Parts: sequence; structure tokens; C-alpha cells
Amino acid sequence: MGPRPVPPEQRALPILSTVSPRLREPTPTGSVGMARPAEQPVYVPPPLESRPHADEIAHWLEELRRTPFLELAARADAVRREKHPDGVVSYIVDRNINYTNTCITDCKFCAFYRRPKDGEGYVLSYEEIGAKIDEAKALGAVQILMQGGHNPYLPFDWYLGLLRYIKERHPIHVHGFSASEIELMTRITKLPLDEVIRQLHQAGLDSIPGAGAEILVDAVRDVIAPKKLDASRWLEIHEAAHEVGLHTTATMMYGVGETWEDRLEHLLKLRASQARSLKRGRGRYTAFIAWSFQPLHTEMRNWDIPLGTGMDYLRITALSRLVLDNFDNLQVSYVTQGPKMAQLALRMGANDFGSLMIEENVVSAAGIDYIMPEAEIRRIITEAGLQPQRRYQDYTEWHEGDAGCPCCAWRGTAEAA
Ligand code: SF4
Repeated sequence: MGPRPVPPEQRALPILSTVSPRLREPTPTGSVGMARPAEQPVYVPPPLESRPHADEIAHWLEELRRTPFLELAARADAVRREKHPDGVVSYIVDRNINYTNTCITDCKFCAFYRRPKDGEGYVLSYEEIGAKIDEAKALGAVQILMQGGHNPYLPFDWYLGLLRYIKERHPIHVHGFSASEIELMTRITKLPLDEVIRQLHQAGLDSIPGAGAEILVDAVRDVIAPKKLDASRWLEIHEAAHEVGLHTTATMMYGVGETWEDRLEHLLKLRASQARSLKRGRGRYTAFIAWSFQPLHTEMRNWDIPLGTGMDYLRITALSRLVLDNFDNLQVSYVTQGPKMAQLALRMGANDFGSLMIEENVVSAAGIDYIMPEAEIRRIITEAGLQPQRRYQDYTEWHEGDAGCPCCAWRGTAEAA
């Protein structure tokens, strides 16, 4: 079936805001939010034989070495067609809500956060968050992506109260609180991990985003984010969420000085994690998303590391489609790669355009502003010879007049009113 024309009502879904709620200029003494630029630590990659999945890493390194790029891309495209034979490329309309930028974790790649007591720190009130949800719903959003810094001043009840407030007064699918935020909650409450997730779910959390994975190799994490949870804890939290029945996504941020062995270890750990969750038969990873590190305004901006190139992005897209054979969906990251690269990625394994972000603050804090209206997303997909389709978080198709999100407590605008 050929591509359908873009319906008139979808031609110009406006962008509400692409502006970060804070100044973007670095301070005179260093990158934004930092007291001073730190020395660049030396990264020593672990030897191959010491890594988990060493044999498979070696196999895929050999595949990368001997397979011409276009052949790799064609193989990945064939997997996409096998998994999505209808040629549909999905996308979701949502709004990023970053409830606080105060954070104590000091990730060196982050341009978004502010230390406690920084004059530019903020915490959004429940009412401000509710107003943002209402604006987003009026523009067609079917979920919010809600994430924030590791704010030591917010008690666990604040998160539970927020979720209940959203579900009672502004119901919508809440895709929120990445593994590292949940880790903070377990430390605050001293409750077992599964109990924290259960309470969040009962209060209204519907699914968990894959942020905070960066590269799931501790030697890399020790260099770029030494205070953040380690790789095995990130995986443990996602698998605990799956056990509670929540779906999650998985990500990779590359171009921070890691090697191809690190990237492959990351992918293979995700595949093994998905296999464990699928075996248990409850929640799972719904999608994988890779993007490149954006150095502007971060502590790492002057580090001598090879940043991710366009070819890296396409190679990682194709490789991840081939390695992650138990993941149904692969999202592009047009926000970091730009529309043209995203369009190419649709023919190299990806089947989802991610989200039409009505508001985005984290990547834009690093100076990247590839945000576009829905009509443009649909045009890019259509011109790649594929069929654009709005979706919900669980990848169910969205259609005009639907009763609401099929996978969560939000059951339609009448109830929401
Ligand atoms: S990436 Fe997240 S945890 Fe790390 S400094 Fe930024 S806001 Fe904090």
C-alpha cells in the first residue's frame, strides 16, 4: 500500500516550546552548572577477554570489520521489513516535562542540570506540570515524558503525590522517572527496589524511559558519570520494572570516548536483559534508541575524544537492528542527528521516528534544536517510501476518535475533562 496523504488537521501541529527554561550561556569559569572545567580522565578500555559476552563481541567486531557498510545497512533494513512488513514508521506526540533541573550527580556530559542552591535551579509545581499537560493534550499529545535531575530536596511522597495529581486532574500516559531517578528514590526511602516501583506504578506511573544507560560498561561510566548508578543496577531496575508489569525503553549515548567493544557490550547486555524479561512474560523493553553525545556547554566540551560521526550513527543503527533481535522497535534520534540522517536511518533498520516533542529541554540545553512539526515528520517518513503512523507508548496505532491510551489508566478526553 502506498503512502497516504497527510490529513489537513495534522499538517501543522505547532511546536509549543523549544526553548530551555534557563540561560544557555556557559559561565565565565566553566561549563554551565560547573565550578570549573575538570581535567580529562584517562580511559583504559577493559580487555576483551574480561568482558561479559566476550565471544559475541568478538564475532560482531569481525562482522563489522569484514562487512561493507552498505551490506550491513541492507541486512538491517531486511530485519526491519521482516519485523514490520507493512512498511509503517510510527511516531508519538508527546511533551517532555523536566520537573526539576537540580541534581547532585554531576554527570560530565550533562548541560541540563544545576547544583543545589544554584540560582537557575527550579522545581515545577504540580499546577505548572498540570498546565503543561493540558496544553500538550490540546495539541494531541498522548503521553508525557517526565524526567528530572537527582534533586535531594524532593521526598518520595512528592513523586507519588505528583503521579496521583496527574492521574486525577490531568490524566495522560506517564512515561517517566528513569532508572537513576528510581535509584535515588530507593536511597531516600530505603525501601526495596520492587516496592518503590510498585508504589510508583500504583500512583500512576505507566512506563519507564531508558535514560541513564549512556554506555553500559562501568569503566566508561566511571569516567563520564562516576556518581551515577552502575551498569548492572541500571539493568536490574529495568528488569524489576518489567517484573512489576511495566514496559520500558533502552537507550545508548555514544561518542563519549568509548570503543566499539564497549558499544557491543552495551547492546549484548541489553539483548540478554530483554531475553530474561521475555522469559518472565510480563513487561519488556519496547524500543531501543541511540544518540550521540552533544558536548556543547558540558564539562566534556574540550575533551580530546572522537565525537560520534554521521557514519557512526548509521553503523550503530544498523548494528543494533542486527544484534537486538529480541527488540521489536528501533527509534531514530532526529533531535540529535537531524532530519536527513534520521531519514537515512529508516532504511538502515529503524522503524520509529520517536516523538514529536512539544517541548524538549535536555538536548536543547546542549545547543541542539532539531525539533519539527508533525507534517514535516510525516513528509520525511513518506519520502523514505514508508507509511507514517501516530502511535501510543505501547506501539498501538493511534486513530482519530480513539477512546484514549490503551495501555494505561488514561481512557479518553471525556474522563480527562
Ligand atoms: S544526566 Fe541526569 S543525573 Fe546526570 S547530571 Fe544530568 S540531570 Fe543529573
